[in-house]
Amino acid sequence: MTPTQCPELEVLFTELEVGEGPALEHAAACPLCSAILEEHRQLEKDLYRLADPLPPPALVATVMARVAVEPPPLRRELWAGVSILAVSLFTGLGLLISNDRALSHLGLALASLVSDGKSLALDLANGGSALWNIAAGPITAILLSMLFVCLFGLKRLAGSPPPLTEA
Ligand SMILES: [Zn+2]
Repeated sequence: MTPTQCPELEVLFTELEVGEGPALEHAAACPLCSAILEEHRQLEKDLYRLADPLPPPALVATVMARVAVEPPPLRRELWAGVSILAVSLFTGLGLLISNDRALSHLGLALASLVSDGKSLALDLANGGSALWNIAAGPITAILLSMLFVCLFGLKRLAGSPPPLTEA
């Protein structure tokens, strides 16, 4: 290739990708080839802009500010808390009004979780009412702790009222 002869466009663009080569050196001095390269750069820029529009520079800051201002989905969480509270209350009521036998079975399950299961299982084999006497304390404690957890959750939810101006 002589200096006056323009390279093939394919060779020119291949060397443009690589970043160096005799065709590129020629294009730097040749107005025709540099015009072609400039046109190619513009087209490439337009293509990139079409395929991947740049986000505004302040996008992240804007999003973070909106996230900070946006109230959490309070209504839904409140309903979840209320339903959990209702379920635990009904469970407690159901425990209280169910018969001795059911209490004994539940007592076995709970008591084996909170204390030595083997000896309590032996107690159940000896007599259900004896187990209820043993397990009544753990059951009450568990129910009370469930209730307090629910109440605490509700209080925390209610503690952050939604900003009315945002609605
Ligand atoms: Zn040329």
